[in-house]
Formats: sequence, C-alpha cells, structure tokens
Amino acid sequence: MIYLKTEDEIELLRESGHIVAKALAEVAKHIKPGVSTKDLDEVAEAYIRSCNAIPSFLNYNGFPGTLCTSINDVVVHGIPGREQVLKEGDVVSVDCGAYINGYHGDSAYTFRVGEVSDEVTQLLITTKASLYKGIEQAVEGKRVGDIGHAVQDYCQRRGYTVVRELVGHGVGRNLHESPDVPNAGKRGSGVQLKSGMVIAIEPMINMGRRNVVIENDGWTVRTLDRKPSAHFEHTVAIRSNGEADILTSFDYIKEVLRDRFI
Ligand code: MG
Ligand code: MG
Repeated sequence: MIYLKTEDEIELLRESGHIVAKALAEVAKHIKPGVSTKDLDEVAEAYIRSCNAIPSFLNYNGFPGTLCTSINDVVVHGIPGREQVLKEGDVVSVDCGAYINGYHGDSAYTFRVGEVSDEVTQLLITTKASLYKGIEQAVEGKRVGDIGHAVQDYCQRRGYTVVRELVGHGVGRNLHESPDVPNAGKRGSGVQLKSGMVIAIEPMINMGRRNVVIENDGWTVRTLDRKPSAHFEHTVAIRSNGEADILTSFDYIKEVLRDRFI
C-alpha cells in the first residue's frame, strides 16, 4: 500500500525534513577527533526535542539512539556509543530522523573527521553525486528502477560497488513505508512514481566489494572486506512538473563546514 500525500501533508513532511536538516548541521559543528558518537547523539536529540519533535529512530524496533553513526567500514545502523571516539582520518555517516505533526523526515550525510585521504574523499564525493543522480529520476512517470539504475551506473563507472541488502523507502506517517527504493536496478522497472509519493533515496556505496555483514549487536552493518563505505540520504516528494522536490537539505551543513563542505 503506497500512500499518496496531499499538498498539506507534503508541507508537514517538509517541516519534519527541515528539523532533520538543522539537526545534522548541529551535529556537523561537533565533528572532530576525540568526540564520541554518543556525544553527537546527545547533540541531535537535544536539538530535535528543542523543536518539540521526537527522534524517529529512538526505540524504533528497539534501536537505542537518535542517530545511526557509522564509522569507516560500517555502512549503516551503527549504534552511538561513549567508547566510540572519532579519530583523525575517519569518515562517519550520520543518519537522522525526526517526527512532528504526525510525519517523519529522514536524511543522512557522511562527514570527514579532520584530514581524510583523497581516495576516501573521492568515495564520499561520488556517493553524494549519485544521490542527486537518483533524485533527478524521482519524478512522476518514472519508476523506482530508474532511480536505482542512475545510482548504480554512476557509482560502478567510477569503480565503486552498491550495497543491495538495504534500500531507500517511502516516508510519511511511518518512518519506513512502501515502496522500497533500491540503489541498483534496471531502467523502466519497478513501481511507477506518482505525484504525492514521498520517498527516501539513500545510496550506500562501498570502496571494495558490495557484500556486507551484520554484527552481533543485531544492528551494525559492516562491509565484509572491511573497506570504507559512504551513505547520503534525502527525503524527496514526487511531483508532476518534472522536478523532484527535496524535503530535506544539506544547506545548513554547508554553512557549518564552509570550504570543507564536499
Ligand atoms: Mg535515514
Ligand atoms: Mg532512510
């Protein structure tokens, strides 16, 4: 069952997306060597609650954090922890959700901690660019396979691999709704996009092989070959005017990172 949102509902989703965007920017201010992922989690939770919103991920199927914080070879769903301290050269994917007025927002950004190798920086640049390649396809009449194909083609041409076990999703009154939005696929295949659909597009791209494993904590998804992975995500509304409507934003992160923004 795919819920098509009204204009009013899309504006409420935009509010949720705005809070997530600002929460990620608050986190961006604190990313540096020596900071724990638990510290980042507390920053995000305090910001979200100051907006009278609720962290979407906290207690979702028992998840213990406001953020998913996924360092280096962790792809997604890393659990924030006091003992997990960022160090120079790390990259950390920060995934955040906020719930207000009955609707969720969902967005993720992979940050660099201090100076990061050119090789890993290039992985981040490519993954982020692939998100926008996917978003270009997120318009009425296209299909989810067009999004997946655009992401996959862009990344594989540059020598990276696409994680298949985890996918984007519909967003609305529930954090995860239909349809699934895979990051790989065939052009013209899958569910057709209709005006009023709201989806999260979230490429998870690996430097090495595409295979992943889940740690014993039941959450942490890690690359099998332990090579780095990157993850960027926007929540997007499907429109009939041929242009995707992005409900989350990296603009506030850009204001914080300035010339370090990639
Ligand atoms: Mg997310
Ligand atoms: Mg998501």
